[in-house]
Amino acid sequence: MSYLFLKKRFSLVGSVSVLITNIIVLIAISFLGPLSPTAIAETTKVEDIRIGVRGDLTRLVIDLNKKVSPNIFGLENPYRIVIDLPDVDFFIPPNRKTISGGLIESLRYGFFTPGNGRLVIDLRSPIKIKNNFVIPPQKTKKWRLVFDLIPTTRVDFIETMGPSQRHKKIEYPQTKKFSNKIKNILPVVAIDAGHGGVDPGAIGVSGVTEKNLVLSYVKELDRQLRATNRIKTVLIRNDDTFVSLRNRIAKARDMNADLFLSIHANAHKDAKVRGFSAYTLSEKASDVEAQQLANKENKSDVIGGLNLGPYSNEVQNILIDFAQAKTNELSIIFARDILLKEASKSILLLKRPWRSAGFTVLKAPDVPSILIELGYITNKEEKNLLNNPAYKKKLCDVMKRAILKYLDLHSSKIKTP
Ligand SMILES: [Zn+2]
Repeated sequence: MSYLFLKKRFSLVGSVSVLITNIIVLIAISFLGPLSPTAIAETTKVEDIRIGVRGDLTRLVIDLNKKVSPNIFGLENPYRIVIDLPDVDFFIPPNRKTISGGLIESLRYGFFTPGNGRLVIDLRSPIKIKNNFVIPPQKTKKWRLVFDLIPTTRVDFIETMGPSQRHKKIEYPQTKKFSNKIKNILPVVAIDAGHGGVDPGAIGVSGVTEKNLVLSYVKELDRQLRATNRIKTVLIRNDDTFVSLRNRIAKARDMNADLFLSIHANAHKDAKVRGFSAYTLSEKASDVEAQQLANKENKSDVIGGLNLGPYSNEVQNILIDFAQAKTNELSIIFARDILLKEASKSILLLKRPWRSAGFTVLKAPDVPSILIELGYITNKEEKNLLNNPAYKKKLCDVMKRAILKYLDLHSSKIKTP
């Protein structure tokens, strides 16, 4: 299929440029006319991705709440198609991460700059786009981008979308820039302020509530992380509302989070107890106190009027799942080897600061998750310290540095700009 054919058939507008190292082609496809000003103001949501197979044709469908003008290009070694969607947010059901079928081996998505989404489709073999079109909203009120893929040869994969050698040469310098972009899909960190709304969490000296204290820390940490321009953050709650534990996990997974931090403050009947600590998930609690803490934190859903039983089915299955084991390994690396090491340099730690127990909120099977207890609000000095803005900045800086270090080591997405 020649470029001209593409142009005719699919109403290609705009520029065609080529990027070549290991290769290929960037085609700016404008499916629709320019967006209206009101459309720009509101974020476009990518709501679903589906694959259908008929014979040797593989159909990829992307559901959106609004029209969007994607950029599409191909890469080889291995064969991929990349679809860039400007000004979008992802609200794709979590199980879509594992879909495959026909010519599509797997797909990934994330942000390559804040707000700009990228869908990377790993292919089983070279393809060409036989057809692509937009279906405007009908009953479902969704816009649909449809791509029909068919198999082709390697040469054709390159040439199908590729114009002349002349263009390739002209565009060659862009290649490097582009491959950097691919690596620069920003990692997503979900930050969860514990409790909220009807559930105040722990109550400390002079009536300070855990829910308000931790929200102020989450906001400060969010500010610091965003200032790095290297991370996309998701706040599970950013006001005084109740969110069930299951929905906290669901939100982190929906956003394709690379890391989930649930931030809490602790209480103890002994007013002398103080110090920062971090918890990971375990079927078997590391000690009685950790289990009591988990029981207390897990009560959140009961307080909010929901009673899902101790664990959902999903969660029970997870505990024996291999994915969970791998995820938990990463959670432990982050909590024990990175965060607590970093914190020990400048923050007072609880005795045995890393512990584990069956915290419901840490049970996402595929998102490394830890629960942080900032300190004890039942200890007067620590309560005062935690309320001190300078200490808040310092503690959030410690967490920020630990997050960056972890993502540098364990996320393929992050790269220093
Ligand atoms: Zn708590």
